[in-house]
Amino acid sequence: MKRRDFIKTSAAFTAANLPLPLLYAQVQNQLSKNDNPQTLFDAIVLGVGSMGAATCYYLAQQGYNVLGLEQFDIPHELGSHAGQSRIIRKAYFEHPDYVPLLERAYKNWQSLEEETGAQLYVKTGLLYFGKPEHALIKGLRESATKYSIHVDDFSEQQQVTQFPQFTIPSGYDRLIEPDAGFVTPERSVLLYTQRALQLGATIRTKEKTLEWKKSGSTIQVKTAKGTYQCKKLIITAGPWAKKMVPSLSNNLKVTRQMIAWVKPKNWNKFELGNFPCWTIADHEKPGIYYGFPILPIDKFGGPIGLKLAHHFHGTVSDPDSINRTPTAEDEANLVYALNKFMPEAYESTHVMKTCMYTNTPDENFILDFVPGYQDVVVAMGFSGHGFKFASVVGEIMTDLAMKGSTELPIEFLSAKRFS
Ligand SMILES: Cc1cc2nc3c(=O)[nH]c(=O)nc-3n(C[C@H](O)[C@H](O)[C@H](O)COP(=O)(O)OP(=O)(O)OC[C@H]3O[C@@H](n4cnc5c(N)ncnc54)[C@H](O)[C@@H]3O)c2cc1C
Repeated sequence: MKRRDFIKTSAAFTAANLPLPLLYAQVQNQLSKNDNPQTLFDAIVLGVGSMGAATCYYLAQQGYNVLGLEQFDIPHELGSHAGQSRIIRKAYFEHPDYVPLLERAYKNWQSLEEETGAQLYVKTGLLYFGKPEHALIKGLRESATKYSIHVDDFSEQQQVTQFPQFTIPSGYDRLIEPDAGFVTPERSVLLYTQRALQLGATIRTKEKTLEWKKSGSTIQVKTAKGTYQCKKLIITAGPWAKKMVPSLSNNLKVTRQMIAWVKPKNWNKFELGNFPCWTIADHEKPGIYYGFPILPIDKFGGPIGLKLAHHFHGTVSDPDSINRTPTAEDEANLVYALNKFMPEAYESTHVMKTCMYTNTPDENFILDFVPGYQDVVVAMGFSGHGFKFASVVGEIMTDLAMKGSTELPIEFLSAKRFS
C-alpha cells in the first residue's frame, strides 16, 4: 500500500485538521468563553474524557441542555485517553457480541469525520500473531466467522515477504484484518467537545465533582466550585468511576499500564505507510503485545517514535496516587517483545508514559443504570479496550439517560451480571 492510502491528502483543509496543538488552543479558547449562569440542566455528564466528550456531543445534538464537568483539561494525560492512537478492529476476540456495536462505532466515527472534515480513523490493517489455541486467535476467528468480517490468513513465507519487520516463531498463526487500524484519541475528544460547545453544551474544565445525590425530583451535583441540578446524570468518570459509583466499585480494579515510544534501528521500515498495527500473543508471557506505526507528530501529536504496549493487568493503583514514573522493569518488558519479534525495531527508548485501565471481573464494559436510580446511568469498566467504542457509547448513554432504553444490543454489558 502507498502512503496516500493511509493519509487523506485530498481532504479539504479544515479547522478540524489543524495540527493538534493548534486545535487544542482553539478548543481551550472556546471553553474559556463558555460561561453559563444556569444551574439546572437536562443532563450532567460527570467526566469529559473519551466517553464523556462523545456523550456531551450526542446530548447537545439532540437539543438537550447539557453540562459537562471535567476535573482536568480536555484532553489530558492523567486518565485513560492519552497517547496518540488507539486500535480499532472488528474481529473482536473478547466477545462476538461487541461486533454490532463496532459496526455502529465505525459508522459514527465516519459521521464525525464528515461533520468536521477531520480524519479520525486511519486504516493501516492489523496483524494478529499467536498460537492457534490462544484466546486472541480463537476469539477473532469466532467473531470473523459469525459476522463475515474480512480476515486473511497467511503463510510464514507470505508474512516474511510482505512484513519482513517481524520474526515470528513457527507454529504461530498469522492473520491480517485489512479494515482495522487506529483512531486518534486526543483529536476525537477535542472535536466531540468542540462540536458539543457549538451545539450549545456548557462544559467546565478544572472543576472536580465531589459528590452527587438524589434531591427531590432532580439530581444534585456538588463540585469544588458550585452546586448544580439535573434531571439526568451520566457518569463517565473512567478510572475515577470507582469513587463516583460506590455501589458498583467492588467490580472495578484500576491498573497501571505503560506505553513506550522507541527509536528503531531502521526508522523508515516502521513509518506509517510502510508498517501496520500489530498484536502478538507471546506464548511465553501473559497478555498481548501490540503496537502502531511511527506517526507524523504534526498531524497526530507527540511523542515521536514507534509506539507499543502490553495488554495485561498492571499493578492495581489508585488514580489519584498512581506511580507515573516508568521503572527499568516496565521498559525491559516492552523491549523484550521488540527484541524477540521485531529485531530491527529497537535501538533506544524515547519516552514512556503511564495510563490506566479500569477492569471489570470479566473485562467487559458496564453500560447501565446505577442500581437503585432511574435517572443516573454509567459507562465504565472499559478494561483497556474501550476507546474505539466512544463514538457509540455516547449515543447509548444519551438513549439510556433520556429515553430510558436503547435499540443497540447492550444486554451483555448490564451491571446485573455482577449482582
Ligand atoms: C495504555 C492504554 C492503551 C489502550 N489502548 C487501546 C486501544 O488500542 N484501543 C481501544 O479501543 N482502547 C484502548 N485503551 C482503552 C481506552 O483508552 C479506554 O477504555 C478509554 O479511554 C476509557 O474512557 P473513559 O471515558 O472511561 O475514561 P477517560 O478517558 O479517562 O475519561 C474519564 C474522565 O472523567 C474525568 N473525571 C473523573 N472523575 C471526575 C470528577 N470527580 N470530576 C470531574 N471529572 C472527573 C477524568 O478526569 C477523565 O477525563 C487503552 C488504554 C490504555 C491505558
